[in-house]
Amino acid sequence: MLKQHRELSMSIRRTIENNKEAGIRPSKTYQSFVAAAGGHRELNFIEKDVRNYISREVQNVSEQENAKEFGKYLLRMKEKNQNFFFELELEEDQSIKLTFWADARSRSAFEYFGDVISFDTTYNTNRYNLVCGSFVGVNHHGQSTLLGCSLMKNKEIESFKWLFQCWLRCMGRNTPKGFLTDQCASMKKALEACMPTIIHRWCIWHIMKKIPSKLNGYKGHADIEREMSQIVFNSHSKDSFDRNWNDFLLNFGLLDNKWLSGYSVYEVGEQVSSSIFNKFVVTYDSVAAEVKCQCLLFESRGILCRHALSVLSFEQVSQVSPRYILERWSKKVKR
Ligand SMILES: [Zn+2]
Repeated sequence: MLKQHRELSMSIRRTIENNKEAGIRPSKTYQSFVAAAGGHRELNFIEKDVRNYISREVQNVSEQENAKEFGKYLLRMKEKNQNFFFELELEEDQSIKLTFWADARSRSAFEYFGDVISFDTTYNTNRYNLVCGSFVGVNHHGQSTLLGCSLMKNKEIESFKWLFQCWLRCMGRNTPKGFLTDQCASMKKALEACMPTIIHRWCIWHIMKKIPSKLNGYKGHADIEREMSQIVFNSHSKDSFDRNWNDFLLNFGLLDNKWLSGYSVYEVGEQVSSSIFNKFVVTYDSVAAEVKCQCLLFESRGILCRHALSVLSFEQVSQVSPRYILERWSKKVKR
């Protein structure tokens, strides 16, 4: 095979890297490609290419070189589009300490979909031993939209502070209304320092994910989990949640479980004038033109529910207050 015709595709290269990490010898890796392709003639590379790739790309690339390459990549992106944003901080030994980047698309998406942000990290899932973080919003189609990425050496408070401040600079210092994270304590502290006015909530998905491991020791934990999900997702007010939750702890003898104590959900506003509608309490304040329904569709999805609209119609309100028409639903949203 002529050398110029030989090449390693992206997926082949990833497999070589993964196998190298798992301690699989290059010859075995090559044999696995041969077996998968149905013979070495079916491959457009030879065993030597696998060995060369390992010695050139996998082994010899140090953290410092990675950092250098990554810095060059960020600069190239910035050259292509001036709205590309990045910051990169190196350790004394020139390896990556902290870095954040967001492309022009993310920055313009933030203008419309930056009201509620979910921030998440994955740790040690890549071979670079860096914490990868992502800021995610929800667009007008209900899809996740990326609003910035980061790599950090650790999950300390100072690292998160650096990151959140950097993110705010990138997004023109517009603080979102709501912020969802997992239950990481240093993330919470950094958030309080950088965005003190924000409504910070723990992500329900992360909490519910922990349930099996937290309740495994209990007899009948499947019943406990079922009942817990039922209460978490079907309580429509703080009062009813508190009531249901206390009954649940009592019924299953879980009052002494530390992990299950200390939960609270949303706050319910003061009732002004109310009418029961479809089992949901809708409160309407004609002076402030404020309508609030117990089903919390507006608070969770940003769309006024049919219960609230019925009450407005009953009250002969001809114009819905602009605060209930979010910009994210308007025609001028480009993305
Ligand atoms: Zn409703």
